[in-house]
Amino acid sequence: TRDENFLKANNARHLWHPMTHPADHHKNPPTIVTAAEGVRITDIDGHQVVDGVGGLWNVNLGYSCQPVKDAISAQLDTLPYYSIFRGTSNDKVIELAEELKDFFAPDGLSRAFYTSGGGDSVETALRLARQYHKIKGEPGRVKFLSLKKGYHGTHFGGASVNGNANFRTMYEPLLPGCFHLTAPYPYRNPFNETDPAKLAQLILAELEDEIAFQGAGTIAAFIMEPILGAGGVIPPHESFMPGVAEICRRNGILLIADEVITAFGRTGAWSGSRLWGLKPDFMATAKAITNGYFPFGALMIADHVAEVFEKDETGKAAIGHGYTYSGHPVGAAAALACLAETRRLNVAENAAARGRELHEGLLALQAKYDAIGDVRGGHGLMLALELVSDRKTKAAPDKAVAAKIQTAAYQAGAMIRVSGPNIILSPPLVLTSADAQVILSALDAGFRAL
Ligand code: PLP
Repeated sequence: TRDENFLKANNARHLWHPMTHPADHHKNPPTIVTAAEGVRITDIDGHQVVDGVGGLWNVNLGYSCQPVKDAISAQLDTLPYYSIFRGTSNDKVIELAEELKDFFAPDGLSRAFYTSGGGDSVETALRLARQYHKIKGEPGRVKFLSLKKGYHGTHFGGASVNGNANFRTMYEPLLPGCFHLTAPYPYRNPFNETDPAKLAQLILAELEDEIAFQGAGTIAAFIMEPILGAGGVIPPHESFMPGVAEICRRNGILLIADEVITAFGRTGAWSGSRLWGLKPDFMATAKAITNGYFPFGALMIADHVAEVFEKDETGKAAIGHGYTYSGHPVGAAAALACLAETRRLNVAENAAARGRELHEGLLALQAKYDAIGDVRGGHGLMLALELVSDRKTKAAPDKAVAAKIQTAAYQAGAMIRVSGPNIILSPPLVLTSADAQVILSALDAGFRAL
């Protein structure tokens, strides 16, 4: 391997990083992560910190999950790859479909379509939603509804339903027929409604209005995250998603739950849909399905939707969609081991307990530092602090503020994520109470550095 100085000097030369200006890393060299163990990562200088980011919301079981490593390695030895297109299958994808069916039975989802990640799972849902309506004889249902501040990946379909201009503007024109509703975000919304329950009702009324305006018969699906993640960890009021589900059902619109972050215990429930007691028509999953150790995903399909495809006799249900790595045996083996560990360790319960602890800690920091405008959490290990320069005007601070907090927190022992004015926490679900305290005291050090 190249030496440390070579790596530091060359990071930005032949490599563009996602979500980063290509010139940024010349000015601000990134932290080069070289190793990880448990819930800690180590950088090239040997500095070790608690990973408050959990990779990218995906390393639920931490970095030392031996059963998953063993499963990957054993699968590489037996069948490192074979496609499952037309006429072939493999033992691991079949076993995994059985396990996923059991895991998601309470959500009413029993079929899996495998993908290579979250963006692919979303794309698959959008495409199959249109196909579903065509099979049913309603080819005019082609539009999609979603939420501002929602994040659904950066494929053209996902970017089209995304509700953040950063992922859209430079890539337009996107998919036509995508419409965005107000986010259930009490801290900032055009209604100036701070009460979450009242805000939920206002947005549900907006949804009814939009459907009437577009014409229900033109809309294929509504897609939303049970807790908006990348948009700044925004949990809707408990009445919101059930309300959306009821309106969609009444209007023949499919509901796609984008659970790329929320499935498999992160919210303290086994799925975000279960948190709100709803049964979506499609559920997009990825990330923690393999603990981040292998790129993999699954679109889960509701029984009644699957039946429309499976009972079709016209040929319209032939699926003209899929990826070379749909059903990758190594990914499927990793996912099988992850599901077993996820259940054995009951990570949802720990996520709920550690989430409460971190939430209380963040509220205590808010009482101490005026720079914290809003604290969001209360549902497992998805939390955020929203920074402001003035609590009254809620004006966003200069970018340098969050960067300074992040750097100081890192020196003090925790990696945190900065996204716009938000500091986001999504640590591994195997976090201990002591690890949670490390994150909180590192954040405290970060704010002290301001
Ligand atoms: N959907 C949601 C809710 C996500 O958070 C993400 C990624 O963070 C995606 C989709 C896209 O997943 P991927 O980056 O694996 O394509």
